[in-house]
Amino acid sequence: IWGNCLRVIKDNIPQISYQTWFEPIVPVKIDKDVLTIQVPSLFFYEYLEEQYIDLLSKTLRKELGGNAKLEYNVVMDNAHMANQQPYTLNFPTSNKADLRNRPVSVTNQEKPDIRNPFVIPGIKRLNVDPQLNGDYSFENFVEGECNRLARSASLAVAKNPGKTAFNPLFLYGNSGLGKTHLAQSIGIEVKRNMPEKTVLYVNANKFQTQFTDSVRNNSQNDFLNFYQMIDVLIIDDVQEFAGKTKTQNTFFHIFNHLHQSGKQLILTCDKAPVELHGMEDRLLSRFKWGLSADLQIPDFETRVSILNKKIYKDGLTVPEEVVYYIASNVVNNVRELEGALISLLAQATLNKKEITFETAKQIIDKLVKKTSKELSIDSISQTVCDYFGLELDILQSKTRKREIVQARQIAMFFSKGLTNSSLSTIGAKIGKKDHATVLHACKAINNLIETDKDFKGQIKEIEAQLKS
Ligand code: ADP
Ligand code: MG
Repeated sequence: IWGNCLRVIKDNIPQISYQTWFEPIVPVKIDKDVLTIQVPSLFFYEYLEEQYIDLLSKTLRKELGGNAKLEYNVVMDNAHMANQQPYTLNFPTSNKADLRNRPVSVTNQEKPDIRNPFVIPGIKRLNVDPQLNGDYSFENFVEGECNRLARSASLAVAKNPGKTAFNPLFLYGNSGLGKTHLAQSIGIEVKRNMPEKTVLYVNANKFQTQFTDSVRNNSQNDFLNFYQMIDVLIIDDVQEFAGKTKTQNTFFHIFNHLHQSGKQLILTCDKAPVELHGMEDRLLSRFKWGLSADLQIPDFETRVSILNKKIYKDGLTVPEEVVYYIASNVVNNVRELEGALISLLAQATLNKKEITFETAKQIIDKLVKKTSKELSIDSISQTVCDYFGLELDILQSKTRKREIVQARQIAMFFSKGLTNSSLSTIGAKIGKKDHATVLHACKAINNLIETDKDFKGQIKEIEAQLKS
């Protein structure tokens, strides 16, 4: 039967593809309408699934009838898996749509198939430096309302990597809110409890560089093999992949491979998946498979705790009123919060001065002035309201009056364009809306700018005021 299928397939694809992807397949058995085939690697299987599933299911159904199913036995190609059982991947091929959307079920086979040449003698596991920074532990991460979900999901993942529904775990939020810290905490925790696991933290840019180098040196296979043997892979700042098709493509294969073998993926991003542009749909949809959790700006109490934790850890003494002053004035970003504390200490040491409230105030005020020049959602809302002669409060009201709805949309539009805030932050601040509303607002305003000259003029005027 497999021979019949092959003949059909051979007629339908280029010879070279046939030799590469079909000749290595070994038919294992037929059990009623289930055909089992053996493929040399997970990568191989993924490629077949991606490129040839239509052809395969069509021919198979012709041979075995409408209920034909295909099972893959995958010969593991990675040395580190030598002590594990081979996997069987089960697929119903009777319904293509169903097949495409259905996550692959990977089950351990009960007894090893003797036709699986699963003996890889003498190859030791590689030791991979996980690239973790010990300071970024869970212990040093202060919990608050702003990070509750992200933190507890991270803890769950750290306890049971690859075994929770949070795969991938997608952590997102503005810069300086703790994404890198939290993602690294997971790695640290896994290494602490399961030292035998291969953990790797890598920034998306570095991944991209390694990949491009591997293409140049013709060592793409090594690159793939290396990444496919990681148990817990942390990729920081995946927004950097935007627009880089080849890197995305490679990452897609690595993602699939790891996900299907029950390995854990942790991704961080400065935007929510819905706001991420320049990313292939199939990759984006995978980003949403697990859990997306955002990191928000910490509230006052959390900011105080973060400062105190740092002060305590570094064995410093800083008067309480100074801590409060910093926490009330540096509000948007934990990195700047820590930065303020550090520069305060540096200046105090330099001038051999005690840290008093007065010196602290001087230094912090100078720092804050520098950063507040940047536009904020609040200052944008204020400017827009001033322009239309509206009270600022009215943006928060539930009214659906046209002029107010439009002012709200304009404020959202400029906040999106001129600040680094995420859609959800903008929505939350302007009228307690969700990210979809903000996205809709930006589209509506863009449409109006294109179609309505007068409106375009108004937008230009507001923009000029914002930038002056
Ligand atoms: P991001 O990757 O989101 O830009 P980072 O993880 O680099 O932000 O965080 C910036 C700084 O703030 C780091 O020094 C980090 O340790 C600290 N930080 C962020 N959030 C917290 C928190 N909840 N508790 C303690 N430190 C934090
Ligand atoms: Mg970061």
